[in-house]
Amino acid sequence: MARADDILDVLVVGAGITGVALGLALRQAGLRVRVLDHASLPRFQPVAGFDQRIYAMSRASHALLDAVGGWGRMDPARIVPIEAMTVQGDAQGQLQFSPPTGAAAPLGYIAESGARLEGLLAVVRARAPDLIEAPVTLEAVETQADHVAVTLARGPALRTRLLVAADGLQSSLRGRMGLTAHFKSYGQKAVVANYATDIPHQGVARQWFLPQEVVALLPLPGNHVSLVWSAQSAHAEQLLAMTPAARTAALQAVVGYGVGHLQEVSSPAGFDLRLMQVDALVAARFALVGDAAHGVHPMAGQGLNLGLQDAAVLAEILIHRGPGPDCGDVSLLRRYARARREPILAMQALTDGLFRLFSTDRWGLSPLRNWGMNAVNRQGWLKQLLMEHANQ
Ligand SMILES: Cc1cc2nc3c(=O)[nH]c(=O)nc-3n(C[C@H](O)[C@H](O)[C@H](O)COP(=O)(O)OP(=O)(O)OC[C@H]3O[C@@H](n4cnc5c(N)ncnc54)[C@H](O)[C@@H]3O)c2cc1C
Repeated sequence: MARADDILDVLVVGAGITGVALGLALRQAGLRVRVLDHASLPRFQPVAGFDQRIYAMSRASHALLDAVGGWGRMDPARIVPIEAMTVQGDAQGQLQFSPPTGAAAPLGYIAESGARLEGLLAVVRARAPDLIEAPVTLEAVETQADHVAVTLARGPALRTRLLVAADGLQSSLRGRMGLTAHFKSYGQKAVVANYATDIPHQGVARQWFLPQEVVALLPLPGNHVSLVWSAQSAHAEQLLAMTPAARTAALQAVVGYGVGHLQEVSSPAGFDLRLMQVDALVAARFALVGDAAHGVHPMAGQGLNLGLQDAAVLAEILIHRGPGPDCGDVSLLRRYARARREPILAMQALTDGLFRLFSTDRWGLSPLRNWGMNAVNRQGWLKQLLMEHANQ
């Protein structure tokens, strides 16, 4: 038996947004927790054209970041409330979402990835400077009956009741702990870039579902928008290789000029898109959270939102576990896996289903899918249901 006083409650591997939010939530509740990362912690440098990585954040994610103090540390001038959403199909199909009349909260928020992580790291620096250790290399992991022993390349070994992988889609800890991930390529790359426009976006997030591709323009502070163009890989490579003027012309040919005349203000980047599913979310004294637990198509802007909800649910279960079980107890891990299984599967099914529906022109599906969008748009209750789902 390991001595209880030199053993952590939770050791989180991966100091991305998910890992740091989880670490702070647990530390705030008085648990003995550490977070490790193999890379040095980034320092956010605000740039004029905004970060390449821009995320839509649900109200539930906002609630978690707010609860751990990270939201209040973000520069409000770099956050945009989403006042409405429009989705256009490829043949006059249309969906519009807006908060119910009189609702105080917007549909969600748009913020840069770096600004969000920086908000959390500012809380760490102010309130829990010993929470994160980075850069550090994890050399060996050994699961014992009552703890997991973790050997680092330098420094003393650590022991923890529960080990959590928050080390991203390519998590190496996941495989090391015996959990299998299944990847399916979408044959697509997301091309991201930011644009200035000459008309106000009014906080509207816009999406165009084309045959085989999805284009999204998300509102950024001032008259700026952020592009996420999920394109067939060969087309994405062409877009990335174009001059800014040619890329902008290609974009305007798709979205028209209702969004104004666009001018590229950041260099573009491309991200391979894959579905990733795991056989199990937990193993003995081990749990997955964030992208280590799931990969989803970014068309719904929900990957990080799912990850933050993993963190919120796991924290809730561990904090309220009562006097009996330790944090790695199998009953707690089962409860976590049960609570997260359905929301993760539902989001993967939704995005994967939409991807399939719009990625084929066989069977004359185009009129049907556009009719479906219009039908959903006419049904207030169904739209409400979709919005509530995206905000969980
Ligand atoms: C184009 C695009 C657009 C997207 N848009 C949205 C959106 O609008 N809304 C949304 O919610 N999501 C969106 N996503 C998804 C989102 O980017 C991810 O879900 C999110 O970044 C995952 O965060 P994470 O903290 O789980 O993992 P990561 O951000 O990948 O962090 C993992 C951390 O683990 C560390 N690490 C890795 N390996 C090790 C190791 N061996 N040892 C120690 N540390 C390690 C890394 O250094 C890193 O700090 C989008 C994704 C793409 C590709």
